[in-house]
Amino acid sequence: MILTVLGGSAAGGNPGQPCSGYLVVSDETRVALDLGSGTLPELRRHVDAATLDAIVISHVHLDHVLDLLAMRYFLAYSPDRTGRRIPLWMPPGGMAFLGRLALALQDDGDGGPYFSCFAIAEYDPAAPLHIGSLTLTFAPTVHYIDTWAIRAFDGRSTLVYTADTGPAADLAAFCAGADVLITEASNDAPDHEPWETRGHQTPEEAGNLATRAGIGTLVLSHLWSQFGFDRAAHRAATAFTGQILIARPGLRVEV
Ligand SMILES: [Zn+2]
Ligand SMILES: [Zn+2]
Repeated sequence: MILTVLGGSAAGGNPGQPCSGYLVVSDETRVALDLGSGTLPELRRHVDAATLDAIVISHVHLDHVLDLLAMRYFLAYSPDRTGRRIPLWMPPGGMAFLGRLALALQDDGDGGPYFSCFAIAEYDPAAPLHIGSLTLTFAPTVHYIDTWAIRAFDGRSTLVYTADTGPAADLAAFCAGADVLITEASNDAPDHEPWETRGHQTPEEAGNLATRAGIGTLVLSHLWSQFGFDRAAHRAATAFTGQILIARPGLRVEV
């Protein structure tokens, strides 16, 4: 399995860095996990985006879904468009979210539903989702809306992407033994929120999750550049002694 990071920024894009999006390739299977603000141009550097096997969305915050709109225009108007519909797996409730978005945005009168370039369905987080050679499973996180961590297994290696989560989600069992863990560390100083309901982790909490789960490589993501990437890595390293990488566009990791 090969992971390619498409962004890595927290909610607002950092200079030159899109938000959340990850390309996962296993054999012939190519899946994008989230497609946040600014990620489509980066995705197109690595793959023919029109031929993706699926897009899977962790939750419907805009920094994780905004480039579904860019992708919609790409699929509808690209000079080499094929008319193929890309499977788009939304979390529960995600189809209603897209419906509201389409209502607000319908402006081109080209007929058909606004998002008809996708084959849209909602995954059942309680059941495995099979996409080509990948099997995806899900676990709920602690965040401000319903959010699902995603575990991808291809028969050889395992990648976990926690998406946005606070420390109380207790994801160590879900992440256990993963070769690569992508988790967020966007919270710099979480004094103002109770631990139980806080929706983002500190770098130390990300490192602690990695240690408790016994993972291989930790990819710190969803970072604000203002807090410093090296500083985040050093803070995570106080709780995790394995390899730590910073999610940046184009970062390629063999899982
Ligand atoms: Zn986010
Ligand atoms: Zn979020």
